[in-house]
Amino acid sequence: ALTAGIVGLPNVGKSTLFNAITKAGAEMANYPFATIDPNVGMVEVPDARLQRISEIVTTKKIIPTTFEFTDIAGIVKGASKGEGLGNKFLANIRQVDAIVHVVRAFDDENITHVSNKVDPLDDMATINLELILADLESVNKRYARVQKLARNKDKDALAELAVLEKIKPVLEDEKPVRMLEFNEAEQKIVKGMFLLTAKPMLYVANIAEEDMADPTACEYFNQIKEHANAEGSEALAVSARMEEEIATLDEEDKQEFLEAAGVTESGLDRLIRASYKLLGLATFFTAGEKETRAWTFKAGMKAPQTAGVIHSDFERGFIRAETVSYEDLDQYGSMQAVKEAGRLRSEGKEYVVQDGDIMEFLFNV
Ligand code: GDP
Repeated sequence: ALTAGIVGLPNVGKSTLFNAITKAGAEMANYPFATIDPNVGMVEVPDARLQRISEIVTTKKIIPTTFEFTDIAGIVKGASKGEGLGNKFLANIRQVDAIVHVVRAFDDENITHVSNKVDPLDDMATINLELILADLESVNKRYARVQKLARNKDKDALAELAVLEKIKPVLEDEKPVRMLEFNEAEQKIVKGMFLLTAKPMLYVANIAEEDMADPTACEYFNQIKEHANAEGSEALAVSARMEEEIATLDEEDKQEFLEAAGVTESGLDRLIRASYKLLGLATFFTAGEKETRAWTFKAGMKAPQTAGVIHSDFERGFIRAETVSYEDLDQYGSMQAVKEAGRLRSEGKEYVVQDGDIMEFLFNV
């Protein structure tokens, strides 16, 4: 499964946020045995469409799809020099598919800041620089090797060399690789380099609870957002403390709490959805008598591959998929009406599944 790793300087609120995630995860009714690595927190992906589908097909049981966050502990300053914990920190980041970068954006005299002042831009730069330096080191090593191979006019080596020459100056300029645009062939090469700064990054400003009603009034948040947008990334304002407080409340109490705080949606729900999007994930549904269920797939997948998300037998023996879009089901109000309107499609092996598709797979065993 794809996972987003949570990083940040010490004392910015990472553990508080991760606690909120694991607490919320522990409340999930459908996954009683889903205890995994203590550094992994599993959450349900909130999706209002599930409720509506289950009403239409009259199933009682709803199973949302899940998403995993990984807590990446460890200090950072000097990490790229490969000292002790630093090495492990970078190795852990290498294994995640996207990075959630938590930045302190609250004042509190009782909580020490590692550099003795709250300065989001400086904090972001500290972490990002370590990742950039680590990438620069791998790029330089690779460059020397590939340069030799390219002398023999090796085609792959020449292609890789061109990519390295595009990346190197950006890193030397202390900018992340994710700022660059690559064509499809280049993307493949970049992927094989496992660069840390090529991973998508989402900034989470951990703001004070009082600021949640209007985060744009928080100067720290604005700074973080501006920097994030300049590198083509997004920034979310979340109060880790508030999320931890509401993580175990049931839906009704949670809404009440949020309303009282002047907030429309929980920060954790926004974080889950933003991370999902960052990873290029989408949702399809199955709706039978027993249950209405959401499944995660990578946008761009074809029907047989998405069938494989449910079971590998479904992929191997794939024949076709009876498909209706969520919009159509919602509009026509019943499967029967969808059929009568000619909106039920029979899709084959080449069909690119769309977010919101409701599918029934037909397969050979
Ligand atoms: P980590 O080192 O990044 O994991 O940070 P922690 O989650 O352990 O948080 C460090 C301290 O900051 C703890 O005492 C938290 O209770 C506190 N903290 C976390 N979020 C907030 C917040 O939004 N406001 C305030 N005032 N304190 C917070």
